Amino acid sequence: MTIQKILIANRGEIACRVIKTAKLMGIKTVAVYSDADKNSLHVSMADEAVHIGASPASESYLIIDKILAACEQTGADAVHPGYGFLSENAAFAKALAKANIAFIGPNIEAIEVMGDKIASKLFAEQANVDIVPGNTELMLSAEQAVKTANQVGYPVMIKASAGGGGKGMRVAYNDAEAAQGFALARSEAKSSFGDDRIFIEKFIEDPRHIEIQVLADKHGNCIYLAERECSIQRRNQKVVEEAPSSFLTEATRKKMGEQSVALAKAVNYESAGTVEFIVDKNQNFYFLEMNTRLQVEHPVTELITGIDLVEQMINIAAGDELKFKQADIKIDGWAIESRIYAEDPFRNFLPSTGRLTSYAPPKEQVNDGITIRNDTGVYAGGEIAIYYDPMIAKLCTHAPTRTAAIAAMADALDQFIISGISHNIPFVASLMQHPDWLSGDISTSFIATQYPDGFDWADMPIDIEAQFSAIAVFLDHKFNRRKSHISVSNRHKIYQTSDQRVVKINGHYIDAQIESSADTSLSIRCQEQTYSLISEWDLGNPLWVGNVNGTAKYFKISPILNGFEIEHKAYKASVHILSKREAELDRLMLEKVAPDTSNLLLCPMPGMLNSINVIAGDVVDIGQALCVVEAMKMENILVAEKAATVKLVNFKAGDNLKIDDVIVEFEIAD
Ligand code: ADP
Ligand code: ADP
Ligand code: MG
Repeated sequence: MTIQKILIANRGEIACRVIKTAKLMGIKTVAVYSDADKNSLHVSMADEAVHIGASPASESYLIIDKILAACEQTGADAVHPGYGFLSENAAFAKALAKANIAFIGPNIEAIEVMGDKIASKLFAEQANVDIVPGNTELMLSAEQAVKTANQVGYPVMIKASAGGGGKGMRVAYNDAEAAQGFALARSEAKSSFGDDRIFIEKFIEDPRHIEIQVLADKHGNCIYLAERECSIQRRNQKVVEEAPSSFLTEATRKKMGEQSVALAKAVNYESAGTVEFIVDKNQNFYFLEMNTRLQVEHPVTELITGIDLVEQMINIAAGDELKFKQADIKIDGWAIESRIYAEDPFRNFLPSTGRLTSYAPPKEQVNDGITIRNDTGVYAGGEIAIYYDPMIAKLCTHAPTRTAAIAAMADALDQFIISGISHNIPFVASLMQHPDWLSGDISTSFIATQYPDGFDWADMPIDIEAQFSAIAVFLDHKFNRRKSHISVSNRHKIYQTSDQRVVKINGHYIDAQIESSADTSLSIRCQEQTYSLISEWDLGNPLWVGNVNGTAKYFKISPILNGFEIEHKAYKASVHILSKREAELDRLMLEKVAPDTSNLLLCPMPGMLNSINVIAGDVVDIGQALCVVEAMKMENILVAEKAATVKLVNFKAGDNLKIDDVIVEFEIAD
């Protein structure tokens, strides 16, 4: 058949991604959208758009009949499901088949077997694929979960059979954790997937997550497109991915690839699919699951193979034969993907919502052997709603080597401007300069072990502090030049005519001496070094692009009173530029002390109070669970930070909460 019009049963970046390729292929596109997505990017990119219901996914994107009605209304002859939502839903594929609409994905049997973690484990075992040891029995009660956990042996992983996106999964090291983990995994599975089947397997400690991309057509051809490594995860959710893996030997790659193809063939797989494994230190690998859909991190494979996976999926669905053989697949260079999430890395990565007051990603380009790609579903002025996953973009780089791809990623992150909501760019920027990441010494526990107390801006080495100071003086100099043109009185300010500055940064004062300056350059001496800056930067630009001592650099800036807030890589500082006299006076000022909120439980994110475990008068202990707040489909347990007595509970289950709402007030014994 030829496909003429594709309806994309998804939203966000993946809907935009599919539309892009369909357009290139000359195929018409139909978007579907919920109330919250009325003004979304995917809606404006598609040729047509159909409204399918209210904002919660359960009332729109997850309703099969609404998608079918939208197909009928627009005459779409094929559906691409993206990832998540209905992408691994066999009933959806069946309904489409019945309506004679092509499903751009595998056949129904493959979805049924592989779309389910329990069924796929059993199947893989039969196909002689190594699986994670454990049990495929359904867990129906906390007691049964505890019993099974003991049989499997701690630590165990308690998992939702229908799970995805790292949700509905809990590690347990003892009986208490197994009982609690079972309850949490089950309720999360129920609310995220509408399916609360739970099973238990062995938790493999410190493995690497490495997965194989396969591609199969309807004619029995199946190949693998190398691997992706996704070990940089937080709460079992991928954050940074790369292709190839820095760990696999050529022999292991081949073994994993061949097993994946064998598994795919055993289910008569067609379309693009991913076989996920965890790999231990000795290159032993264990099958985790097969994702019967396009994977979030598919761009890194596209970048190293030059193959457009969406195009292949569409051609396969149309019945075409694969145009390449295994021997044609070559790995070219290295690709990295950073998932940009709307979350606050400084507040335990809690989801963030609101309006994107600015959104300016780095320019997509291929330049000097380096590719910058940014798959996104948002735009400046758009809204990040609480209803969906918090991923807003996937920033990818490709270069001849891993080192160059990482350096390109660090630079690209430095140029990525987002404001209005919190986001994880500072965190990913910090990862990009972590020595263990740089050397490829990683595992799935990397983030948990390297950032045990959460994330904060990195401490500044002296050289970075001096660079920040130099940039601030450059900016200030530009402002002064502007002012001296428009205001007569300003021209007589003392520090205009002097070359001396005092830079206040991180609470201390640094002397800086301007050695020379022109419109687009400035040479400054501070911390016993000379910094020569060249930049076309002009007032109002939130990004300083230029050269520092001959190296291209990017600094994000926002003006504050008497100075600038500057961000660069994993560093941030407020930098004030003072004259000698101002600095003398400044040293005499008292620092403001932040108000004490340690006797309050503040809501860390907008969301809904799912349950509250305490009432006034309760005595709570450090670490005790106080309540559960649900936001962006995640249940977040808020715990007591110290022993205290509950004085007041201000909300009840079901209430909607804003950030910093006082949920509980305590009395704390001294
Ligand atoms: P992968 O296994 O492909 O690496 P994940 O499992 O991390 O990807 O993420 C897939 C998950 O993304 C889905 O299970 C779903 O929770 C979520 N998701 C679904 N649709 C979207 C979307 N349009 N934008 C962002 N996230 C989505
Ligand atoms: P999802 O469908 O959410 O992607 P997976 O089964 O693929 O679920 O697991 C996601 C991640 O959780 C893995 O990449 C890995 O880091 C971790 N994980 C899952 N199962 C295990 C296990 N048995 N032992 C150790 N880590 C695991
Ligand atoms: Mg997975």
